[in-house]
Amino acid sequence: MKRNRSVKIVATIGPSSSDPDKLEKLFLSGVDVFRLNFSHGSHDGHRKVYEAIRAIGKKHHHNTTTLADLQGPKLRIGTFENDKIILENGDTFRFDLNSTPGDTRRVPLPHPEVLEALTVGTTLLLDDGKLRFEVIYHDSTCVETKVLVGGPLSNRKGVNVPHAMLKIPALTEKDLRDLDFVLDLGVDWVALSFVQSVEDVENAKNIIGDRAKVISKLEKPLAIDALEPIVEISDGIMIARGDLGVEMDPEDVPLVQRRVLNACHRIGRPVIVATQMLESMITTPSPTRAEVSDVATAVYCGTDATMLSAESASGQYPFEAVSIMSKVITKVEADPYCARKLEDDTQLPQQSVLDALCIAAKNAAEFSCASAIVLSTDSFEDVVRCSRLRPRVPVILLTESKATAGQVGLCNGVVSMVTRREFGEKLVASAQKIVEEQKLAAVGDRIVVLSIPETFVKICQL
Ligand code: PEP
Repeated sequence: MKRNRSVKIVATIGPSSSDPDKLEKLFLSGVDVFRLNFSHGSHDGHRKVYEAIRAIGKKHHHNTTTLADLQGPKLRIGTFENDKIILENGDTFRFDLNSTPGDTRRVPLPHPEVLEALTVGTTLLLDDGKLRFEVIYHDSTCVETKVLVGGPLSNRKGVNVPHAMLKIPALTEKDLRDLDFVLDLGVDWVALSFVQSVEDVENAKNIIGDRAKVISKLEKPLAIDALEPIVEISDGIMIARGDLGVEMDPEDVPLVQRRVLNACHRIGRPVIVATQMLESMITTPSPTRAEVSDVATAVYCGTDATMLSAESASGQYPFEAVSIMSKVITKVEADPYCARKLEDDTQLPQQSVLDALCIAAKNAAEFSCASAIVLSTDSFEDVVRCSRLRPRVPVILLTESKATAGQVGLCNGVVSMVTRREFGEKLVASAQKIVEEQKLAAVGDRIVVLSIPETFVKICQL
């Protein structure tokens, strides 16, 4: 299914959206990539969601894209007897190794290595920094804290300990079990949380091989220090602004966002801007002006995708959030200033035959006023090189590779079709037929056909 926009929408699936009919409604509202968040849910639950997504793809003749987001060494508290408590400023509250569900006086913190690293005076941040605690006592089994900034606290909220060096492996035992599970399922992308170094990504890629593409989530200052090499070795990047904004000063986040977007464009990797994009829509049916502006800024800066987290996973208005995000993207992309800005921001091609072909196809489409570039290849990398140039028309991928067809759902402006590969004039005839049948262009329109590794670019009319 071709959307009327290039920037893709990633939606996190959770209790508000995991039933098959809700997943279909999300898809029809505009979701391109379904994010299964392994910080929550059971394997059985994720399997049902995964199967429902693939069934929706079949029903609508669409190559759905699935992203399994591994929890990583994210520190989280355990659960509460009644799921949620409210803490007041000045309360005393304990984090301990006892696995019994918590109450208003304590909660499990099942991370002995964190307890070890804490000392009196250390600050603990909970729920993306919304709650703040100061350690007033510690031993090897618990820390006693004073609540500096209170508020509601619910099951499994995240814990950040800025400035403390924690010795935790990049892929935890849970991640390895989840990884086994998602690779068996056949997800298109795996996202690695709390990447700190090139080695973290290398280790994961060695395990994953060619079974899925790998996204590095940038949420630690250490990862930003090693930005370019991490972007190089990853297949895609997520700017995970939730944890990033907790671990760094919030005023640094927009600067980092632009640096990361630039690095991804320069090197050629799909990138997702994530977290709090339409946060107020968790509880209200319309977004704030600032949130709309945030989505618009990401589009003007040439992102591949924007992401919804709790808005679609546990919010009250998941479909409205997707529809509004889609409308904002469409509106911004129709602004001539956006096209000009993306053009100005386009990074120089590399001196390679592949880039020469992609740039030839882009220019041919622009100067012949074509309505699409049809790209015939099985290689994910070829598609990324073409999408990286941000052509003004959609890139329609014709491929024999089901894997590539699913993976490119994340890439700006790309629509995929699985079909037998043809070459030369046979390809042109087949491209014309498919584009017309699928209503991807109208009779009389021009299309540009690009075939790789066959070095072939042709302009033709439907
Ligand atoms: C984030 O921190 O912004 C993020 C996307 O990670 P998660 O939702 O897994 O905490």
